[in-house]
Amino acid sequence: MGINYTLLTKAALEGKLAHFLLFHGSGMIERERAVRDLALMLNCRKENKPCRECPDCKKMLSGNHPDFHMIKPQKTSIGIEQIIQIQGKLYRKTYEGKFRICLIDQADKLTLPAANALLKLAEEPPDHTLIVLSAGNAEGIINTLRSRAQEVYFSSPAESDWLEETDAFRLSGGDPDLARKIQEVGLSRIKSLSGNYLEAIDKKDFLKMFALFPMEREEGQLLLQVLAVVLKEMVIKGQQSPQVLKEITQMTEAVRRQVNHRLALEVLALKHLKLGGTDIG
Ligand SMILES: [Zn+2]
Repeated sequence: MGINYTLLTKAALEGKLAHFLLFHGSGMIERERAVRDLALMLNCRKENKPCRECPDCKKMLSGNHPDFHMIKPQKTSIGIEQIIQIQGKLYRKTYEGKFRICLIDQADKLTLPAANALLKLAEEPPDHTLIVLSAGNAEGIINTLRSRAQEVYFSSPAESDWLEETDAFRLSGGDPDLARKIQEVGLSRIKSLSGNYLEAIDKKDFLKMFALFPMEREEGQLLLQVLAVVLKEMVIKGQQSPQVLKEITQMTEAVRRQVNHRLALEVLALKHLKLGGTDIG
């Protein structure tokens, strides 16, 4: 069963925190911030936690606390050697803090052996240690590991709370990770790519697809993600066949499995044209 972050901090203050957590939903940066806030609270030495002024708080805030560990994917996955390396550290005494915190960022990228090694850690938890798995998509974590964790779900920020590029946030459908990727690649570039794609479908003119290329692989992946958001809105308004969402999911998966992004977009467009394309007005 999942709980929310407010209940979690209450449990932390009462000393009733589970030792193995799974943070999912919202964006990567939002979840990391929540883990760091929790670490502050657990290690602060003052009455009013977190005070942000005691030596433990200061070290946590500067990112230099020796009892805070973070594991991220190296290239595309988190390997077993990374888990073994952290294991050695976790069974030692804490350096300075009361609690050792280990954040596994993008836990949906754990390889199977790495996930199994973590499972052992969850079954024989080291003292005074909190392990937090963080993932945008909890479905990507094997069930045996996921079922061990207390789940904490984070909803996406409201548009009014979003302080970065608002247009990118809107185009992302409220997904912080996608919004930041759009900003990285460039909002105008992504808008023009999705505009060109939709125009090709609307005019039933496959040749217009060529206007999309050349395109970097990263841009192709991003375009598919953005099209999924845009087309979903059109499906809701009855302007698109729901079938197109299934096709786009399949093509996104294919590109993830190293299928060429140009081929994937062209296949998508052909299927999309067959479905009747857009039907605006
Ligand atoms: Zn403090």
